[in-house]
Amino acid sequence: MIEFIGVEKTYANGTIALQNINLTIDQGEFVAVIGLSGAGKSTLIRCINRMHDITGGQLNVDEVDVAKLKGKQIRRFRRRIGMIFQSFNLVTRTTVMKNVLVSFVPDLPLWRRWTGIFTKAHKIKALEALDKVGILDKAFIRVDQLSGGQQQRVALARTLAQNPDIILADEPIASLDPVTSRMVMDDFKKINKEMNISVIMNIHHVEIALEYADRIIGIRKGEVVFDGPTNKVTKDI
Ligand code: ADP
Ligand code: ADP
Repeated sequence: MIEFIGVEKTYANGTIALQNINLTIDQGEFVAVIGLSGAGKSTLIRCINRMHDITGGQLNVDEVDVAKLKGKQIRRFRRRIGMIFQSFNLVTRTTVMKNVLVSFVPDLPLWRRWTGIFTKAHKIKALEALDKVGILDKAFIRVDQLSGGQQQRVALARTLAQNPDIILADEPIASLDPVTSRMVMDDFKKINKEMNISVIMNIHHVEIALEYADRIIGIRKGEVVFDGPTNKVTKDI
């Protein structure tokens, strides 16, 4: 369970990105965070895994006060939270398989991860994750040979391989065409329902958010202006 209790975020330059955010997100929910560019969506989800530090209030994940975590604890905590970006964040000049395998050695600096020795169990897990998102046949192909949608599925598989409880997705389909977007959203939905992984996704395509998410959180100027089940959303939010 994720709890925001009066959360505030003011950036060092004085920009108030979030104010008085109060939310509870249960395990297994599929939440879409919607709002205009600059509303605070990205800040909101990036506070959950401590990519950003909050500047007021309290944020708990499974009753752990996230602000109190230190060094090693942060790294262990982040293992439970997958992160998906608009730009995929893959190493494109190597294979799909290697990109997934790096998730098993997250504490090594990036340049050393490639020399990490992977066990058979790691390889099986990586292949299972690729199978889950329907790209097992691409395992030994270089990432730069894949379409955008396929690359986003590699990112999803990389995240799945670390057995997350939560996946945070920051505009995951913003650079994909409508057909590919739906294929990627289908994967998110499948992972959410079959594996009970919470999905918290920033998305500016309201129609797609309504089609896939169970709950919609609307953000405007750093504040929650709507929070409810998808079927309660009216046209004009
Ligand atoms: P969204 O994801 O809804 O587009 P963001 O969370 O990225 O919104 O941004 C919210 C506000 O905070 C915006 O005014 C943005 O310019 C500002 N902001 C985001 N990141 C930073 C930062 N690192 N430093 C200062 N201001 C920031
Ligand atoms: P993305 O969509 O990948 O989050 P953005 O262009 O929104 O990319 O932001 C890129 C980086 O710049 C982020 O780390 C964000 O926090 C930071 N950033 C965004 N807006 C501002 C701002 N107004 N001032 C300083 N940094 C910002």
